[in-house]
Amino acid sequence: MRQPPSPRLGPATLAIHGQQQKDAFGSPHMPIYDTTTFAYPDTAALLEVTEGRRRAPLYSRYGHNPTLYALEETLAALEDAEAAWAFSSGMAAISTLFLSHGQRGIACLGEVYGGTLSLLEQQLPELGIDTHFLLEGHDPDALEDLLKAGVKLVYLETPTNPTLRLIDIAAVAEQVHRHGALVAVDSTFATPVNQRPLALGADIVVHSATKYLGGHSDLTAGAAMGSAKLLDPLWRWRQNLGSALSPQMASLLSRSLCTLPLRMQHHNASAQAIAEALREHPAIVWVLYPGLDSHPGHTLAQRQMSGFGGMLTLEIAGGRDAAASVADRLVLFALAPSLGGVESLITQPCTTSHADLSAEERARRGITDGMLRLSIGLEDSEDLLDDLHRALGKLETDRCFPSSSAVPS
Ligand code: PLP
Repeated sequence: MRQPPSPRLGPATLAIHGQQQKDAFGSPHMPIYDTTTFAYPDTAALLEVTEGRRRAPLYSRYGHNPTLYALEETLAALEDAEAAWAFSSGMAAISTLFLSHGQRGIACLGEVYGGTLSLLEQQLPELGIDTHFLLEGHDPDALEDLLKAGVKLVYLETPTNPTLRLIDIAAVAEQVHRHGALVAVDSTFATPVNQRPLALGADIVVHSATKYLGGHSDLTAGAAMGSAKLLDPLWRWRQNLGSALSPQMASLLSRSLCTLPLRMQHHNASAQAIAEALREHPAIVWVLYPGLDSHPGHTLAQRQMSGFGGMLTLEIAGGRDAAASVADRLVLFALAPSLGGVESLITQPCTTSHADLSAEERARRGITDGMLRLSIGLEDSEDLLDDLHRALGKLETDRCFPSSSAVPS
């Protein structure tokens, strides 16, 4: 008789106990094996590893390193994936995915991170790889044409940056699989705590672990998760591109992952509270946050996400200069182009991530001049709200902010 499936452990447990690899000396965490190569007692033992009969540490560039193994077990456990590979950056994971599975054409749905866009628009076509863009997201008719024409990899981000649009992963996967093609999802904004694309039907998930997975703005890393069969070619490319994560960064990322579920709870709750509080503010035209019922994808968010994340986007009345001056007046939000750290960050997409696009192209992508993107950190949400109200020209408390002039120049 078949055994009923054992219940999946919760994310907080998996983040801490996902690593099966144990240290020989009993350390509760895998230490840093800061070594390039591993010795074997004889040729027969070495051949077992080089001929693939046994997986064991061998050479760190190959990813055969105990510190990396331990991290990858946790990453796989969090996405409930058979395998995970860790990379030196999110872009290393994404480019390796495209090189491994994109040779027969890539369809990109919706808005994607600028680095990914330039890879798809410029570098990959130079290698003879066909890339196609469906800016509206999941347009079933247009996608059907591409799949019939032989495209074999469909790639998307959800939620997207910075417009926080959502794409229905299950619907895309259902359509794409009818054509024998693959779906890969960049789930960086959501993390495995808030969204599990593989369970929704995607084949491969990628992350910029530089963001929430690392969570402290102190490491650069990437990850890809999926079945062992689909990840195998990524492993081969990673080996020869030399883009495996270093043991030091793998250890730091493993440590960060232990608190990922806890951090995401706070990011989710704080961003929701700030989004709700700001939506009535007279200086704000609109607030985009998947957890608001006014968000166009709110119903989908409720279905495909278990938390709505720490990112929110605002439109400031008065356009570009007004938005810039709000960003400049904030004290607790650093003006910096990243996300997912313990500290809150703010960017104005038209002056940073999307500055290279023409005004028409930005408009086509829904990027307005008055748009500000906020990464809500782990500070007290009341303090962040006070800072925002103060910068928006409406100081409601006499809370004491650290003086920005105290920062040494
Ligand atoms: N994917 C998303 C959604 C991102 O926001 C970023 C970077 O901002 C990347 C991928 C690239 O990640 P990395 O900077 O780690 O290469």
